[in-house]
Amino acid sequence: MRYLILSDIHGNNPALQSVLRDAGEFAEIWCLGDIVGYGPNPNQCIDQLREYPLHCSAGNHDWGALGKTDLYVFNRAARQALLWTRDELTARNMQMLNDLPTSLCVQGYLLAHGSPREPVWEYILNTATAQENFQAIDFRVALVGHTHMPAVFEWLPESRNTRLMVPDYEGPLHLDGRRLIINPGSVGQPRDGNPDAAYGILDTEAATFEFRRVPYPVAITQARMSARKLPQRLIDRLEMGR
Ligand code: ZN
Repeated sequence: MRYLILSDIHGNNPALQSVLRDAGEFAEIWCLGDIVGYGPNPNQCIDQLREYPLHCSAGNHDWGALGKTDLYVFNRAARQALLWTRDELTARNMQMLNDLPTSLCVQGYLLAHGSPREPVWEYILNTATAQENFQAIDFRVALVGHTHMPAVFEWLPESRNTRLMVPDYEGPLHLDGRRLIINPGSVGQPRDGNPDAAYGILDTEAATFEFRRVPYPVAITQARMSARKLPQRLIDRLEMGR
């Protein structure tokens, strides 16, 4: 079965729509949190996800929008966007975010926003943090987001070490029974210098993970953010992918 792996959509509906058109057929969406925050269309993004069979873990911005977490842990621009998002969300969509688990296991794959051991908040940005997670939690393949940077970390059992692999967009990653932490990158606010929406396709029969990028109409998202008076810094960064 093919599964669409999404993370950090952040209320960017034009990006989400481009991903859905690009993805081809898939059985379910597995979402790694931060559906909302930053972007102009939080309700549309949640409503769109509801139309598919969905497994989803909670992100720190989802919690911020709900008031489950203190907004002062966020920077000023993120906080302003979360306050706007909180007012915007329908009661039904608030409930949907509130019901999200912090992490979950689907067909043997661990899904979390941040990391296996600290699912809502920890950033896995380097091999040291990945290594601690491999040693602390028993999992084969974990799918995480949060950093907005596509990446693969591999546990090397012989040396008991961890290595970082740069995602290859030319061909699929073969899982080969290895212990891996895979981050597909962000749909709605990429930060790896490439403004195209990032996502992944997991094929559980072939045991492959495909990293994908697709351009989307960034200017439409930016115009919607301007109309809603969201912070300029958040608007500008989309076209740079940073
Ligand atoms: Zn995020």
